[in-house]
Amino acid sequence: MYQLFIEYCQENNLEPASERTYRKIFCEEFNLSFFKPKKDICATCHRYNQLTLAEQEEQREGYDKHIQRYRDSMKAKQMDKDRSNQKEVSSVLLLTFRAYYSRKLCVYNLTVWEGKKPNDGHCFCWLEIEGKRGSNEIASCIFRWLEKLPCSINEVSLFSDTCSGKNRNQQMAAMMMWYVQRQRTSHAINIITHNF
Ligand SMILES: [Zn+2]
Repeated sequence: MYQLFIEYCQENNLEPASERTYRKIFCEEFNLSFFKPKKDICATCHRYNQLTLAEQEEQREGYDKHIQRYRDSMKAKQMDKDRSNQKEVSSVLLLTFRAYYSRKLCVYNLTVWEGKKPNDGHCFCWLEIEGKRGSNEIASCIFRWLEKLPCSINEVSLFSDTCSGKNRNQQMAAMMMWYVQRQRTSHAINIITHNF
């Protein structure tokens, strides 16, 4: 930034302040800081970053090759970019897939544990393209779970945390209220207690 500041001063015939003064003013008189953009990294880089320094040292050679491949691909991209920019009207077109398409697809999971037997869990999974992760989705999962209970059950006691986005909300209460009030032939659940 200081380099850019000097260029700006030169272009506008101004005397630039010293780097020290520039730094002092930047740090003390402006409420500014640098933002490091978040970047999705590949599985290899992620694994490597999790290693201890000693382990990293051990795997350095392979990792360096990985980084070299990355640099080579960036170079190849730059070359094609230059080729496509060479002339005003170019016959070469460069296409780059941007971050959105390489972003990881989110999978949501709600797990319900039944108290009767140990390890009796039910996982409700959906993708971010199929639904959000709000109270409607959670209520739908619990609804599905209630529907699948055996006919012999007529009372259900639920325990959950007090997360209002997930459990303690109108949608959930309304779903359960409706569930016990509606006329059904196959199920006979008439009491649902939701404990927080
Ligand atoms: Zn990588």
